[in-house]
Amino acid sequence: MTLRLHDTATRTVRDFLPLTPGKAGLYLCGATVQAPPHIGHIRSGVSFDILVRWLKVSGLEVTFCRNVTDIDDKILRTASAEGSPWWAVAERNQRAFTRAYDVLGCLPPDVEPRATGHVPEMIALIRRLIDSGHGYAAGGNVYFDVSSYDRYGALSGQRPEHMRAADDIEGESAKRDPRDFALWKGHKPGDPYWDTPWGPGRPGWHLECSAMATKYLGPTFDIHGGGLDLVFPHHENEVAQSRAAGDGFARYWLHNGLVNLGGEKMSKSLGNSLLVDAMVTEVRPVELRYYLGQAHYRSGIEYSPEALAEAAAAYRRIEGFVVRASEAAGTGTGTGRAAGTGGTGGTGLPLASSLPAAFVAALDDDLAVPQALAVVHEVVTEGNTALAAGDQAGADKQAESVRAMLGVLGLDPLAAPWATAGDSGLSEVVEALVRVALDQRQAARARKDYRAADAIRDQLHAAGIVVEDTPAGPRWELAR
Ligand SMILES: [Zn+2]
Repeated sequence: MTLRLHDTATRTVRDFLPLTPGKAGLYLCGATVQAPPHIGHIRSGVSFDILVRWLKVSGLEVTFCRNVTDIDDKILRTASAEGSPWWAVAERNQRAFTRAYDVLGCLPPDVEPRATGHVPEMIALIRRLIDSGHGYAAGGNVYFDVSSYDRYGALSGQRPEHMRAADDIEGESAKRDPRDFALWKGHKPGDPYWDTPWGPGRPGWHLECSAMATKYLGPTFDIHGGGLDLVFPHHENEVAQSRAAGDGFARYWLHNGLVNLGGEKMSKSLGNSLLVDAMVTEVRPVELRYYLGQAHYRSGIEYSPEALAEAAAAYRRIEGFVVRASEAAGTGTGTGRAAGTGGTGGTGLPLASSLPAAFVAALDDDLAVPQALAVVHEVVTEGNTALAAGDQAGADKQAESVRAMLGVLGLDPLAAPWATAGDSGLSEVVEALVRVALDQRQAARARKDYRAADAIRDQLHAAGIVVEDTPAGPRWELAR
């Protein structure tokens, strides 16, 4: 294990040494399901999907927990604005997030806990904080006493005297210190509530994640992830309350950079056109995934249609080689099996031993995807040279290597979910039908009936099939 990861808590890149050898526990702050996701939300999913894949390829047994915050001020506001129950708003948007993760090829988490299903765990944690002098009930709420925890501010690198007040409750005169944050929010008329020993109310956001992370991953676990905008106050508060309660909590903190639009963090109003549901009708999902995953996970992405188009073109260059090499080898497309031999534990992921050393070194260096993709592009160039020279064995070898690398990044065009395999054999039927049409076109040309030949080509085009004549005969692909 030579993986090194940037840890926000220490501000250094350090060796990743799992708590239990051979295993890795990862908690990722998932969606607050107040609205459907735009690409800014889903970038986090793609970044951490690459981490999960890389941990697995590195031989670790991964437990991946990604939560859903299904109760929150914004969900309640949306529900009241549209006259729907809060739980219907949460359910609808959770489905939109699941759809977005799936369509972009993110492996599902091992567990996806919802906040409202973990109130007993939250009550137990509040009890421990009050008993140990770190929490207090006041004015119907329960607060964390920031002054009781001397490491407060360490994660985000702030001095306590410079910190802003927590603004998680309106009119909070009951607080002892403006920086104290709510563990539990007292009931307000009209809002949903759960009963606790300190009165009815609903969970504070930070408390949820501490309760759910430790329930599924244990009091001490390996990696806690999230977007850079969550470092303060969310993660600062999570680590404060968990450590104050006596848990070791996360050993590494990883944060992905944000997607910006016109120099601003994407907000709901700016981001409407960039909803994942809308974007995947404009661009192939695999190309959107390539775009979101190609930058280093810690750098910001400044969204532009031009940059997205460039990324799509770069992906098509890689895909074009893989498909041509596969066709030349006569293996056809859509085999649905990841390259690189048997894969790790039936996951469809390649074995680390099938990957070029430079690619492995890049990902081991804090998931340096840009450097890893440079290796992919180099091998594609070599493979194209081999194909042009008629060196099938060389092309096969390069194609297998490219597919193995793409598998790590979730981008192998011939593997699930991008390949059309698993469609009940329909791709074979389509292949055979197109072949019939192309044979008829060849026959028409042979008898110099060019009108008939062109008509067949035009009909195929109308059906979404592009025909290209090559020295080896006509080849076809779906129009994009
Ligand atoms: Zn969280």
